[in-house]
Amino acid sequence: MPKELRKILIIEDSELQRKVISRWITKNGYTAIEADSISVAREKILNEPIDVVLLDWELPDGNGIELISDILSTSPVGWLPIIMVTGHTEPEYFKLAIEAGATDYISKPAKEIELLARIFSALRIKSLHDQLRETAIRDVMTNLYNRRYMEERIEQEFQRCKRHNSLLSLAMIDLDKFKSINDTYGHEIGDQVIKQLAHALKTSFRKSDIISRFGGEEFVILFPETSIADAARILDRVRENVSKIEMKSDSDQIFHFTFSGGVAGGNLSDFNSNQELLKIADKNLYEAKSSGRNQIVS
Ligand code: GH3
Ligand code: MG
Ligand code: MG
Ligand code: MG
Repeated sequence: MPKELRKILIIEDSELQRKVISRWITKNGYTAIEADSISVAREKILNEPIDVVLLDWELPDGNGIELISDILSTSPVGWLPIIMVTGHTEPEYFKLAIEAGATDYISKPAKEIELLARIFSALRIKSLHDQLRETAIRDVMTNLYNRRYMEERIEQEFQRCKRHNSLLSLAMIDLDKFKSINDTYGHEIGDQVIKQLAHALKTSFRKSDIISRFGGEEFVILFPETSIADAARILDRVRENVSKIEMKSDSDQIFHFTFSGGVAGGNLSDFNSNQELLKIADKNLYEAKSSGRNQIVS
């Protein structure tokens, strides 16, 4: 990632100190974001993808150390490196901060060169963390999200949409007669079918829709802020387009493949848990299969 896109959040109530640090950061090519209280910091963390947090100890609405676990549990980008910047220089404070989850600690008055070195180190850890996280949440064959990540997201989105009274739809799809595709054309061509479908899914939905490979030839898609009718309509269009894709066997034989889908959700007031959402989508998928395949049931 280019340096200027790296966002450093400075949480410091002293305007003078905040401005000095902000100037150093900007001068050295990073983007500085400022917060003078815990509440402002919280808002910034929720709304911008922050890379490193510089955290003061004493703040007008609480103490920085209380914010650490908050930052770590609510950051939408996952874990964040936090560097405590504080006038408390006793080793006990250092220990407290690290135990609370801070990555590093620097005494006030901070020196420019030292602060930059610590930021550099924190960014290196952040990059490693981000790479690890990417591999942990992606399916290798399709680069779609994997089941583990999707289950987490379904739960998160379910809670969020229920809280805000907004719509949430979920679709479960499964390739039709896939066993016979494998048997007829071989497992490798079967894999190509899975990749082709993944590509069609990636290029068909909105950026806010979340697509996962949930099992071997099974995919789950989450549609936030979407009615069940709209989700079914979009999915049916994809189903139609996919059924026209021409695949080629090893002996240059042209063949087609199809999928069936079940959709559930919409208004969540009738749902008690996210498990129910999956269960009903699965039930509708079963219905689509047993009434002829290559169709969407909602
Ligand atoms: P249905 O229309 O009822 O879904 O029939 P089906 O044959 O697709 O259903 P079934 O679930 O019985 O078979 C799924 C097959 O998908 C079995 C498995 O060998 C194959 N499969 C699962 N994962 C992969 C994969 O990664 N690559 C390939 N080539 N095949 C896979
Ligand atoms: Mg302070
Ligand atoms: Mg299956
Ligand atoms: Mg199948």
